Amino acid sequence: MKAILRKRNLHTVCESARCPNIGECFSKPTATFMILGDVCTRTCGFCSIDKGATPLLVDPHEPMNIAVTAKELGLKHVVVTSVTRDDLLDGGAGQFALTIKAIRDNISRILIEVLTPDFNGDEGALASVFEARPDIFNHNLETVPSLYSIVRPQADYRRSLEVLEKSKKAGLITKSGIMVGLGETPEEVREVLKDLKASGCDAVTIGQYLRPTRGNLEVKEYVEPDVFKEYEEFGKSLGLGHVYSGPFVRSSYNAEKLMEELNGNQVN
Ligand code: SF4
Repeated sequence: MKAILRKRNLHTVCESARCPNIGECFSKPTATFMILGDVCTRTCGFCSIDKGATPLLVDPHEPMNIAVTAKELGLKHVVVTSVTRDDLLDGGAGQFALTIKAIRDNISRILIEVLTPDFNGDEGALASVFEARPDIFNHNLETVPSLYSIVRPQADYRRSLEVLEKSKKAGLITKSGIMVGLGETPEEVREVLKDLKASGCDAVTIGQYLRPTRGNLEVKEYVEPDVFKEYEEFGKSLGLGHVYSGPFVRSSYNAEKLMEELNGNQVN
């Protein structure tokens, strides 16, 4: 799989972020492709992706390269994500839409999940992604609102919640996630879960933050497994049907399980 990815100069977050679940996902096979280059215009404290004001030009061949690669690898589930491109007029939304279309046109049975930035809340940008009809629209809140200034300094908690609300109103299966262990309190996590329920979110992931490099935020706490379990139970008690909470849970992990569950259950 890695050889094929290198051949087309494609990047997966699975490798770049040294995800602990990479062996399991690559063997399924599922993968998370990162489009729009590997330089981000934002400076999130938890993220080790290169930062810079002059990211790469948008590659017009990228959507088809991803579709061809996903087909060649026999992927059953593909996640498409990107750095945040505040330098682009549409924030890169058009490239997301083209990538979804290229995958759909080339592979008849595949689950497409997008994990997008907030596009600064731009209605037109969001609409272009919604109209491409991904199977799952995922946008992560990442943390509790009190920690946004250090964890996601250029983001806005309410704006991200609105992105999720709009996705749900567009009729998409909507998903979000947070990391814990960054200094948040359990009460703050419970408040986030309430906000996610109010936004109409269908599925939530909660995982332990791990410091990717010494330049990133320190881990404030390794959260105990029974606390993860308690978050899951609290989320479910609110009516959130699909809450995945555990130390190694990551944003796109187990999306196939989610789809199986959603196909068996009524979505909110
Ligand atoms: S916006 Fe995304 S890619 Fe950019 S620094 Fe933040 S988490 Fe990393």
